Amino acid sequence: MCGIVGYIGCRDAFPILIKGLYHLEYRGYDSAGVALANGGEMNIYKTKGRVSELEAFCKNRDVSGTAGIAHTRWATHGEPNNINAHPHYSESKNIALIHNGIIENYVVIKDRLIQNGCHFQSDTDTEVLAQLIEYIKELNNIDLCAAVQLALGQVIGAYAIAVMEKGRPDRLIAARKSSPLALGVGEDEFFIASDASPIIEYTNKVIYLEDEEIAVVYRHEAPKIVTIGNIEKTREIIQLEISLSQLEKGGYPHFMLKEIFDQPRTLRDCMRGRIDADCKQVVLSGIRDHKERFCNAKRIIILACGTSWHAGLIGEYLLEEFCRIPVEVEYSSEFRYRNPVMYPDDVVIAISQSGETADTLAAIDLARRAGAFVYGICNVVGSSIARNTHSGSYTHVGPEIGVASTKAFTAQLMTLAMMSLCIAREKKTISEERFLRLLEELNRIPDKVERILRADESIKNLAGIFTYAHNFIYLGRGYNYPIAMEGALKLKEISYIHAEGYPAAEMKHGPIALIDSEMPVVAIATDNEMYEKVISNIQEVKARNGRIIAIVSENDAAMKDIADYVIEIPATEDCFDPLLTVIPLQLLSYHIAVTKRRDVDRPRNLAKSVTVE
Ligand code: GLU
Repeated sequence: MCGIVGYIGCRDAFPILIKGLYHLEYRGYDSAGVALANGGEMNIYKTKGRVSELEAFCKNRDVSGTAGIAHTRWATHGEPNNINAHPHYSESKNIALIHNGIIENYVVIKDRLIQNGCHFQSDTDTEVLAQLIEYIKELNNIDLCAAVQLALGQVIGAYAIAVMEKGRPDRLIAARKSSPLALGVGEDEFFIASDASPIIEYTNKVIYLEDEEIAVVYRHEAPKIVTIGNIEKTREIIQLEISLSQLEKGGYPHFMLKEIFDQPRTLRDCMRGRIDADCKQVVLSGIRDHKERFCNAKRIIILACGTSWHAGLIGEYLLEEFCRIPVEVEYSSEFRYRNPVMYPDDVVIAISQSGETADTLAAIDLARRAGAFVYGICNVVGSSIARNTHSGSYTHVGPEIGVASTKAFTAQLMTLAMMSLCIAREKKTISEERFLRLLEELNRIPDKVERILRADESIKNLAGIFTYAHNFIYLGRGYNYPIAMEGALKLKEISYIHAEGYPAAEMKHGPIALIDSEMPVVAIATDNEMYEKVISNIQEVKARNGRIIAIVSENDAAMKDIADYVIEIPATEDCFDPLLTVIPLQLLSYHIAVTKRRDVDRPRNLAKSVTVE
């Protein structure tokens, strides 16, 4: 949520900042702004709308300067308009500030500042920080960095900020707490960004700030890192391995489509080095190094939000089936506030694509304080979840830019499947023969995904038929029940069509009342133990004239007579079905959204990497 970027060096800052904002637009896109230091002047331009609108707004304006900060917003406090757009400035307009996060005690601070003569322009929580920093600086007659330290000591909440001062084009100040922030270290130039994507074109050397750390970034010197409490820190420079091409669309019209089609490769990447060539064992170092914790766990709690929560539900089925460990799957946002019962021998698995999900981070903190062992599954290397867990696995799918998660989801499933097999073998809760058979099948999954992707054109045609619909129901059972929910979520996210996913048998307990000849029902009815049962549920829909799109296994002749439309996928083991059944549902939502002319990669009101609670 909200992308921040800063530059200081020898080049013109504006083009670097704008390009950086385009990379960060997945984090928010309701307004954008930039502040540029030009000698003794500071020019601030901001406008409602996308980064392209800011770029157009700045045409024929003075955008010179070799230092600057820029922001693309996902509003939490105050409607998305020109005034609420960042950067925000202080009373004298000498200090400009951009912010990702929420200042929870902003009302109290704002009231106090107003009593002391400050005039606020915006409705945001962020402006309070800009005003407070200047107020403290003037009152105590201190340097900007010292004022930032004192101001941050007073705020409650989450922030990644970058601050610039008029007349000081030689220095930027950045700080973070619970929101991500990376510092790019180039040759005589430095970058600040919410993630590495705006930096990678110029340098692969980054420093990740820790909570409550402030970086003072000078033009010609190495950045100085201090804590809010003024303790000096040295942070390791990390060499990143992302390439620029991973951040581009590679000929696809949308990142989402590219990422859907990337899945055969990303699934192979996720397995690489973890399943040995002869399919004889799974090696996940995070599990191997802590196998006693997993084998002795009386209970596993999975914490996640959104799509990752759906992956967690499938993880529950896998871990219970193979490892015989009771599993509970919780929304992080509920878990953290409901005073849950926790034991020191609990194992917690936290799942998040970005590794920055605010609620999941807070839930991890709670679990750690209760003595639980916490394992993270995330995609972004070096992210907060990766750093705040005892152990974990990366999904290794490269940057996911489309707001609706696709390739990160399937890699989460793959990771959970590998984990379950690995633990089950350690615990001896799976026979050797079954273990080897499942491992061989897991290895075949990327090829099977590739085969499903060949149906893209026919799914596109199908999407054209259903754009009229205002509602959709998705049905699945067993391992495919969470996929029904995930299919519905994908459709909602990018097409804005209301959709619900249900366990197929639950339909008659309520949702069946919604079925009429207008209602499309997507039923997942692959060839598994539940097949006959799902057929009965489909017949119930058909008897009420619902329109059925069935996801079935190849060569299912019977379903052709029952369903209105059939999408065939290769057969697999029941437990791996979700890795395949989700693919046509991703394509269906994508094509419906495109037909309805939705902004697929930047759906309204959403943003990726939910760093606010
Ligand atoms: N709270 C700030 C605003 O509403 C930043 C929001 C965010 O980072 O998501 O402008």
